[in-house]
Amino acid sequence: MDLANRVKTLTPSSTLAITAKAKELKSQGYDVIGLGVGEPDFNTPEFIIEAAADAMKQGQTKYTPAGGIPELKKAIAKKFDSDNDLTYSASEIIVTTGAKHALYTLFQVLLNDGDEVIVPAPYWVSYPEQVKLAGGKPVMVQADEKNSFKLTPEQLKDSITSKTKAVIINSPSNPTGMMYTEDELKKLGEVCLNHNILIISDEIYEKLIYTNDKHVSIASFSDQLKDQTVIINGVSKSHAMTGWRIGYAAGPEKIIKAMTSLASHSTSNPTSIAQYAALAAYQADGDANKEMRKVFSERLELLYSLLNDIPGIQCIKPKGAFYLFPNVSEAAESNGFDSVDEWVKALLEEEKVALVPGSGFGSPDNVRLSYATSTEALQEAAKRIKRFVVNHQ
Ligand code: PLP
Repeated sequence: MDLANRVKTLTPSSTLAITAKAKELKSQGYDVIGLGVGEPDFNTPEFIIEAAADAMKQGQTKYTPAGGIPELKKAIAKKFDSDNDLTYSASEIIVTTGAKHALYTLFQVLLNDGDEVIVPAPYWVSYPEQVKLAGGKPVMVQADEKNSFKLTPEQLKDSITSKTKAVIINSPSNPTGMMYTEDELKKLGEVCLNHNILIISDEIYEKLIYTNDKHVSIASFSDQLKDQTVIINGVSKSHAMTGWRIGYAAGPEKIIKAMTSLASHSTSNPTSIAQYAALAAYQADGDANKEMRKVFSERLELLYSLLNDIPGIQCIKPKGAFYLFPNVSEAAESNGFDSVDEWVKALLEEEKVALVPGSGFGSPDNVRLSYATSTEALQEAAKRIKRFVVNHQ
């Protein structure tokens, strides 16, 4: 049986591929350190688990409205008001099966064949694939490492064509951990308003920032920008709830309504129990992840200094998320490898350290390391990477 054309060009997630390889080596008895994961290594807070158990006991185990239970939408609206200075009504919010499915549904309702979406590179691996699945064309625009991997307004302007429908802004970013400043966002927003393109603002790492920089949503600058932005967010990263699969989108009612219709025919609704768990997360203290943030911040400092101590590895200091995205091209070259991909493969085979090659994120000179793992593992990983680099000189 021949498969549909739409899946023939799908690229499997590079993040999942390296995790699978690391697992395979582990099952063969090797002491593998995996720095590929994209999820907090913390447990979901106990009060959230209890809220889910209570919901089950109280019979909240049935279908819910396709766009989410009204209580959760209300709590999300309150979060937008207090955290982002944004007012959304329930009809402007949809709760989804993770932020990933919010994005998937958004592209499905937004794009006609050939419509273009500007994807600044380095990008999160799923953006281009999801755009393609909706019949759209991802237009990758390389952000300069010297500009902290951030898209400039000029680059944005130059990449807009008559087919451009939207641009994706992800701040703090996966894989780079970089954040746009308020001024930079305002300038990008101006370009989008002038050219009438939608801004898809993925703010999933909003609660994981380790500097004094404040997260600001691009939608909050003006009513016009709010009308031209869809915000994507969720509880996966902020509350260590990746497995619960609760995300959401907020934006113009027309778009949210179409997304809700589509959800009603695809997922029916996000899991009822997980919605009650997310409700508890949002009804609690807004600083519920303080401890996790503190630990991530310490690990970032540690891994950042250890990496910069390795010859041929240059790393810009991220501000948020839980990734470092060093440039290792010099190390790979001086170690005699043709590409960073080859270097990563050999590192896993020889030293049993799993990193994700930057090629999957549209940045082939870099690698992504997640510090959502123990301090001891990070120290050992850095030691092994250094040994590998020095041994291959
Ligand atoms: N957006 C970015 C940038 C991410 O890194 C992720 C997860 O890795 C998601 C969206 C999706 O998160 P989830 O579907 O778990 O809510």
